[in-house]
Amino acid sequence: MTVRVAACGRTDAGRVRSHNEDSFEIDEARELYVVADGMGGHTHGEVASRMAVDTIRRFVAEAERERDTTWPFAYDPGLQRHSNVLKAAVQLAHDQVLSAIRRDGNLFGMGTTVVGCLVRGGTAAVAHVGDSRAYRLHDGRLHLLTQDHTWVNEQVVAGFLSEEQARDHPLKNVVTRALGGDSEVQVDITEVTLEPGDTLLLCSDGLTTMLDDREIEAQLLEVADGELNGACEALVHEANSRGGHDNVTVVLLRAEEDE
Ligand code: CA
Repeated sequence: MTVRVAACGRTDAGRVRSHNEDSFEIDEARELYVVADGMGGHTHGEVASRMAVDTIRRFVAEAERERDTTWPFAYDPGLQRHSNVLKAAVQLAHDQVLSAIRRDGNLFGMGTTVVGCLVRGGTAAVAHVGDSRAYRLHDGRLHLLTQDHTWVNEQVVAGFLSEEQARDHPLKNVVTRALGGDSEVQVDITEVTLEPGDTLLLCSDGLTTMLDDREIEAQLLEVADGELNGACEALVHEANSRGGHDNVTVVLLRAEEDE
């Protein structure tokens, strides 16, 4: 059975920040979906997140026409071709952010998280770096597909902090991986077989610091049969109504049976 994907996205500065450092991209023709959450002084976070999103879109577009799809990055035979393409695109985005910093010292300290999804033949390749997340709503339950690259999450995984302690931890915003960070970046890839009715959510931490997983699940179920735009609006509205402490970005994908 083949599936096709419908998608929508929203971004909002929130109720506290004066500008929005998040960026997102929906390229329906290529079935590419990306959310990036920039950081850095002045408006440099916006520069980094936009650069990441644009680089990934360009690389994916070019890879369709090339045979050496991941050059100059390694090809992992354990992953599908489009997963390799997406992974290489994220690695290139990292290199682009680093090069921009090298060219202009004022940009020192800028960086961005990224979570991206590329769909081919009913399989979603999900790539991420940092604390932007991907979730899958399947059979009425929300499942987290990504592990935050944050100091606090690493402590939870290691058993040193509980989920509750992590939620309000003063260091919860410290990411351990970002594009533009260390000279090498490690990109996590997950492959998910989509079934008709599945919904994927890509989001920045402006959503997940305001709503926990069960609350996000409830929001998505409430509008499960409604149109996706309404679900995007509802998630952003909910994050803002709880304080909107950060920029919030959501991209929703719904897999539907392809006739
Ligand atoms: Ca953020």
